[in-house]
Amino acid sequence: GHVTPELDCKVKFNASNEEKVDVGAIYKSKRGDNKEQLYLVVVGHVDAGKSTLLGRLLCDLGQVPQRLIHKYQQESKKIGKQSFAYAWVLDETGEERERGITMDIGHSKFETDTKSITLLDAPGHKDFIPNMISGATQADVALLVVDATRGEFETGFDSGGQTREHALLLRSLGVSQLAVVVNKLDTVNWSKDRFNEIVDKMSVFLKQAGFKDTITFVPCSGLSGENIVTKPKEQLSNWYTGPTLVNVIDNFKCPERPISKPFRFSINDIFKGTGSGFCVSGHVETGMVSLGDKVLILPQNEIAVVKGLQSDEISTANAFAGDHVALTLAGIEQQNVGIGDIICNPQNPVPVTTCFQAHVVIFAIAKPITKGLPVVMHQQSLVQPAVITKLIAQLHRSTGDVIKKKPRCLPKNSSAIIEVATQTPVCMELYKDIKQLGRVMLRLEGTTIAAGLITKIL
Ligand code: GDP
Repeated sequence: GHVTPELDCKVKFNASNEEKVDVGAIYKSKRGDNKEQLYLVVVGHVDAGKSTLLGRLLCDLGQVPQRLIHKYQQESKKIGKQSFAYAWVLDETGEERERGITMDIGHSKFETDTKSITLLDAPGHKDFIPNMISGATQADVALLVVDATRGEFETGFDSGGQTREHALLLRSLGVSQLAVVVNKLDTVNWSKDRFNEIVDKMSVFLKQAGFKDTITFVPCSGLSGENIVTKPKEQLSNWYTGPTLVNVIDNFKCPERPISKPFRFSINDIFKGTGSGFCVSGHVETGMVSLGDKVLILPQNEIAVVKGLQSDEISTANAFAGDHVALTLAGIEQQNVGIGDIICNPQNPVPVTTCFQAHVVIFAIAKPITKGLPVVMHQQSLVQPAVITKLIAQLHRSTGDVIKKKPRCLPKNSSAIIEVATQTPVCMELYKDIKQLGRVMLRLEGTTIAAGLITKIL
């Protein structure tokens, strides 16, 4: 493509490492309020109360106009389902966001004392699992919601339930900071014993699944609003003096924002801008980008110029690792850019390949995985047909030791090193280099069969 020459003259930060000493300071001053950005995904078995909990959280934090809350309360009362009001809040904010023109669909923001939280893929969607997966690939931290109701926790936790699968998925995608929300505690009369029973069972499982950090468990009820934003008042306060859900979120540690690594931007959405050119929205995974930068789009190998840069609908001169922004691109045709493509610095391009190795966890699949299995690969926003070309080794689930080389098949719940080939070239990084682009998931007929980390690019 063409490059508009006058744009190259704009004052900008040089992308080379030596001259980037003051980037940290720029980064800090850019965040006027000094709040750290954190991407949160909320997972858990269907009906665990995720939508209700999040709707309540947004309402109690004052994110939702009072008249809207009132409207939902009235409407839900009319159909005799008062408990739905909060979940609707979440759907409505989703729709409202969709009407916005620049930012990603499915993101909702709120603030705690020290953090600015972006909620990834609000679970109001019916087709929640794929959304949860794409959310999990971008998440820094996660909330795993379990239903404390007698019988319901067990349904979600035992075979067939999604609680274990979601926890394993998070773990295999490198999301190591997790808090467990023991929800709907109102249904068991705020029983301390029931809470402890769930904590014990989950702790054992999470430790086996490889979560090393101590996991926080927070008792609450999305429906009654107990212990979400404000300290518990009723029965719960008799035995619980720990943090509220908002405190727990505020206490998560912010992962490092790799500003000094090479620039990588993954395209989540493409749309027509207001002026000339077109916009792509997405996530600056690593490094930084400035207005006027000449960029390379891979795997197509197209050059473009960044003509506009918007963060939360406000124009800025720079965007840094961790930011969700919209870029206006010039000098390139819109049809030459696709969702899942990576934008990078032409001097330091992202690797492009059709074959890689990954360390994966196999989920509770019905049929063992064999060599030659066609799958659908998900990596960030990219969705690509692929084939499992080799089963290199089966590994011990916890220690990672090789149990068997070149196994004939991989059974459910096993761990392995596999080789995957994609139909067309894709952008890819080793997990150890750039975590954000080093995670993959494999799906078959609408279910996730494996997820893991890229260990070798071939
Ligand atoms: P999701 O599928 O995880 O998003 O779950 P929902 O938020 O849609 O809730 C599923 C059902 O559980 C709905 O009927 C809710 O009204 C109900 N529910 C959600 N939270 C609570 C709670 O804290 N207590 C009780 N008793 N019911 C709840």
